Amino acid sequence: MRMKYDCVIIGGGPAGLSAALVLGRARKKVAVIDEGKPRNRVTGEMHGFLTRDPIAPSEFRRIAREQILAYPTVSFVADTAVSIAGTDGDFRITTAGGESYRSRKLLFAAGMKDLPLTIEGLADVYGKSAFVCPYCDGWEHRDQPLVVISSGADALHMAKLIAGWTNRFTICTNGSGDMTEAHREELSQRGIPVFDAPIRSVDSEGGIVHQVVLTDGTTVPCTGIFFRTTLVPGSDLPRAIGCEIAEAGTVVVDPFGKTNVPGVFSAGDAATRMHQAIAAASLGSMAAAAINGELSEEAWSHFTQAPH
Ligand SMILES: Cc1cc2nc3c(=O)[nH]c(=O)nc-3n(C[C@H](O)[C@H](O)[C@H](O)COP(=O)(O)OP(=O)(O)OC[C@H]3O[C@@H](n4cnc5c(N)ncnc54)[C@H](O)[C@@H]3O)c2cc1C
Repeated sequence: MRMKYDCVIIGGGPAGLSAALVLGRARKKVAVIDEGKPRNRVTGEMHGFLTRDPIAPSEFRRIAREQILAYPTVSFVADTAVSIAGTDGDFRITTAGGESYRSRKLLFAAGMKDLPLTIEGLADVYGKSAFVCPYCDGWEHRDQPLVVISSGADALHMAKLIAGWTNRFTICTNGSGDMTEAHREELSQRGIPVFDAPIRSVDSEGGIVHQVVLTDGTTVPCTGIFFRTTLVPGSDLPRAIGCEIAEAGTVVVDPFGKTNVPGVFSAGDAATRMHQAIAAASLGSMAAAAINGELSEEAWSHFTQAPH
């Protein structure tokens, strides 16, 4: 068993890295355990992060690590956390590599992950010309012919958003029966085509989609797709140790990332439905301040000033 850390952070994406920076600057002993499978690894460019617009996700993490390593109490571990025992003040984290870490506090910054895509050809374009978030990738597709794969109230919500980037888009419901007459009427009044047949395939070349083919033979030419993936928690460990989990799969936290389990915090995609890197980094920073606050309170009882 190694030394006891002040905080073990599980996950080294924007949330975990931001927390590590704050805690490192606060002179806390921190281990960031990261298996290196961030959700945005499918994409070549990350957008909308102030001063880093655009940047490759891998380069973002490289710069972050380089800057964090200026603080000598932070270390990085390339491994997967697989089990957790103990309570506030003395957690034990075991990894797939067979290592064990002791820590006073725990921060889950394990993100969310996508379930495998079921539409043929969609995985070939995911992160290259098919995206999940118009704030992240809408600008790059402005004024282009797009397909939005969505249905029901979400299709309407997506239509209102996407309309800010292009007035040449089509809704494909992929065989979902969720569209009401009211939804159809609202879209039709604005000239937005809606196709209901299931999608047979997404045809592309070099990752760039050129058409969506439906099972009834309809082809919808386009240069980009926006769609929803099915998300699950990046790690099941929060649930396993008793953290309350919301319906969306996110860890329930207070505004500073504190969970219902004493000493356990969560930040980033794992704890919010606002999936953007800068939001994740911000939540990581806030959780780190809360963690440092608890550690400072606990250290205060045995703090003595050095003689002047
Ligand atoms: C295709 C795509 C494009 C995107 N584009 C943008 C964009 O342009 N701009 C933007 O702001 N946002 C974008 N996002 C969203 C952005 O990627 C996320 O909001 C952000 O990465 C969340 O950061 P995070 O630190 O919470 O999680 P992540 O970045 O997902 O990092 C979580 C880390 O935890 C690790 N992990 C999980 N479980 C364990 C475990 N048990 N042990 C060890 N490690 C573990 C994972 O492997 C991963 O490395 C995009 C997302 C996708 C899917």
